[in-house]
Amino acid sequence: MRAIYISEHGDLGQIKVGDVDVPKIGPNDVLIETKYGALNHLDLFVIRGWPGLNLSMPHIIGADGSGIIREIGSEVTTVSVGDKITINPGLSCGKCKMCLSGQQVFCQDFSILGEHNGGTFAQYVKLPELNVLKLPDNYPLDKAAAAPLTFLTAWRMLTTQAKIQPGQYLFIHGAGGGVASAAVQIGKFLGANVIATTSTSEKIEKTKQLGADYVINYKENKDYAKQVYVEFTKKNGIDVVLDNVGHATFPMSIKLLRPGGRIVTCGVTSGPFTKLNITDIFWKQLKIKGSTMGNQGEFREVMDLVLKGKLNPVIDKVFPFEQAGNAEKYLSEGNQFGKVLLRISWLIL
Ligand code: ZN
Repeated sequence: MRAIYISEHGDLGQIKVGDVDVPKIGPNDVLIETKYGALNHLDLFVIRGWPGLNLSMPHIIGADGSGIIREIGSEVTTVSVGDKITINPGLSCGKCKMCLSGQQVFCQDFSILGEHNGGTFAQYVKLPELNVLKLPDNYPLDKAAAAPLTFLTAWRMLTTQAKIQPGQYLFIHGAGGGVASAAVQIGKFLGANVIATTSTSEKIEKTKQLGADYVINYKENKDYAKQVYVEFTKKNGIDVVLDNVGHATFPMSIKLLRPGGRIVTCGVTSGPFTKLNITDIFWKQLKIKGSTMGNQGEFREVMDLVLKGKLNPVIDKVFPFEQAGNAEKYLSEGNQFGKVLLRISWLIL
């Protein structure tokens, strides 16, 4: 089968298109014929590699995808051959105390598809039955591929971790990103006042269309803390900051928060190290929460809203399969608004 893979870590030049064997399924697995894959910053980190990441090469990249079930294992009971599905990219053992209590993200074997295991950028993908979700017949497969990782991540951040309440002020950096554009919509759905930053006037319009109440051009207006405090929050300050940028934004996130506010982080697209004034953290009694992906229950909750059209995955651009390298380069340049997709098969559905 055709697949997008790396044979060694390095720059984006390591991305290859070639032939690999079709995976063999076990009794609890399904084999998906993939229709779309969606890119995530995780792909860029995996391609580059990090100390301690030992992958068996060649390694197929890609965490998100959608497609059709072509084969099921002998024990599979919840889905059938021919079902249109989307994928929960969070893999866990399914048997440990954490998994059995619904806390799959704390499973010792927790991993993300395409991170430690073969990913979705291939004609066929093998997955445990528990990691596929059947789609309604009329739900488009491109949106189905665009949603899971980012909507699941943003959902857990804002509900389970930040426990945002109606009427509270939510601040989101870089609204064009996948997690951030999902978070703008989820924040509005949960009744928050959403304030976001982005980089162009076109993106400001798009962010407002997603429901944001105030949008700041952070390139033109670098010192917006006072405006946020006085104008946008009526001297309340921000209740929750969603920060997945890291190095470039974390000090501002701390500054924006009201006393007792909380910051929730799930990633560091600008780098993991930054300089903080710890005094602000104890004096304002802030909470800093980390978050990664989500549990099966959270996945089903948020995807139910997506599939009912209450949350709407935004697709920026779809690249043909052979141009996976260009697609990852485009993602790395950060000019997108919403998700970048890969069209993997040419099936007419
Ligand atoms: Zn487990």
